[in-house]
Amino acid sequence: MFCKIAAGQIPADVVRETGTTVAFRDINPQAPTHVLVIPKVHHPDAASLAAAEPGIAADLLREAGQVAGEEKLESYRIVFNTGSGAGQTVFHAHAHVMGGRGMQWPPG
Ligand code: AMP
Repeated sequence: MFCKIAAGQIPADVVRETGTTVAFRDINPQAPTHVLVIPKVHHPDAASLAAAEPGIAADLLREAGQVAGEEKLESYRIVFNTGSGAGQTVFHAHAHVMGGRGMQWPPG
């Protein structure tokens, strides 16, 4: 499904786009700012992306920082849920960029 968002085939609230990534607002936000950054290429999770295409993994992290800057987040969290036991529900690599409220540590 995120492949279709990357291809522009299903709508999303896109906040940034580069040649290799798309950033869009999470449909079910868990923080005042909750943006997902995805690679346009398909890999099932962040580690797989980094192993196969490290340059695009770096693009993803750079874009996460750009989103945080544009959203004026002084503190924020970048989350990569990996595996269903950790809460991953969409098996296309994505970074959650979350901020705008206090963050607990350790996360649940
Ligand atoms: P995860 O559970 O880590 O795999 O994260 C998947 C995220 O994608 C969840 O936070 C969902 O709310 C979000 N999501 C699912 N479908 C869409 C969509 N069509 N547009 C925006 N966010 C979505």
